[in-house]
Amino acid sequence: MNTFSYNKQPYNRQQTFNPYVTKRMYMINTALLLCHIIFCFFFKIYSINLLFYFSWFSIATYIITYFILHKNKAYLFISTIFLEIFTFVLLATLSFGWDYGFQLYCFSFMVAVFFCDYYVNKYHKIKKSTICILILNILTYFALRIWTYTHAPLYSLPDKNMALIFHFSNAAITFVFVISYLAIYSKTVFHLEKALIDTANRDPLTSLRNRRRMQELLHSANEEFSRNPYNMCIAMIDIDHFKQINDTYGHDVGDEVLISIANIFLEKHAQNNSFHACRWGGEEFLIFYRKYKETDSEIFKEFESIRQEIDDAIILCGDNKIHCTVTIGLSFHTNHCSIADMVKQADENLYKGKEKGRNRVIS
Ligand code: GH3
Ligand code: MG
Ligand code: MG
Repeated sequence: MNTFSYNKQPYNRQQTFNPYVTKRMYMINTALLLCHIIFCFFFKIYSINLLFYFSWFSIATYIITYFILHKNKAYLFISTIFLEIFTFVLLATLSFGWDYGFQLYCFSFMVAVFFCDYYVNKYHKIKKSTICILILNILTYFALRIWTYTHAPLYSLPDKNMALIFHFSNAAITFVFVISYLAIYSKTVFHLEKALIDTANRDPLTSLRNRRRMQELLHSANEEFSRNPYNMCIAMIDIDHFKQINDTYGHDVGDEVLISIANIFLEKHAQNNSFHACRWGGEEFLIFYRKYKETDSEIFKEFESIRQEIDDAIILCGDNKIHCTVTIGLSFHTNHCSIADMVKQADENLYKGKEKGRNRVIS
């Protein structure tokens, strides 16, 4: 005798990174850490003390952010990094002047701020704080331009080529960061779109296809069938006396019974991908079965074994042990009938099965 148990998935909408983003955030964190280690050596060699000491602060920040990432605190991670970059841009531009190109990090900063909400598990809406940070960033960029135009830098390096080398390196790093943020953004949107389509096509309780998706599948099967006829079968499956289960054990237990029955169909689909199940209505399921080698009587036997499997099963819902049965109405393709006719035929056979006493397969 089979037994089924059911685990409820917790509903989770925390402000953590989307799973496919977390790995990339580790990469960005490592890249920022390496940049600051290199800068630290450089500032030490040229005795630029202000930035040398600030580099230690930056290195410590990017070590701490590993722990923040590990705890998956998305907004704390993003704000810590933003604060560090913002301070670094200010100090480095005031120290070296405009020609060294440290102000270019404002652009990567802007892209990161603009898209950061997409990296997090939440509803995506541009917040007032994001707009404020963007405006502050733009104002800082122009303020730095004016300041460096009217004031001499705090440090001047002996080698004049350094400005060019730095400008190129800073521009290259900025491009890499902007491209990385956009790549993460497009990947995130791709995953979100996939999840959205999946949600639109699935029944949230049982995870089976929903009626809408099955109708699409039947529609495309109908078109394919008119070009290239193949054998097929439609089964309507209805749980017997389901109302009694709800009335006796409660609606929650009824839901668990639906999930357990649906799991049998999901398992069948995993074993045989021509077996397509959907939740057609409350406690009714529709199976669209594309036959390849099987004969009608073999298909009948297969549905008979599904009925028997459900009849033999004990469904565990908390302390309750539930037994239930199903009635199955089948329709096989015959000449000149459409898929809509087959659905109607399966439904009629289902009701014949109910009239004959339930817990049976009728074709
Ligand atoms: P029959 O053997 O003739 O099919 O009897 P039945 O009791 O199964 O049929 P009926 O149509 O009288 O009752 C179907 C019940 O299914 C009524 C409704 O409350 C219940 N139902 C529909 N959707 C859900 C659901 O999502 N969860 C639960 N727990 N019950 C549902
Ligand atoms: Mg029923
Ligand atoms: Mg029903």
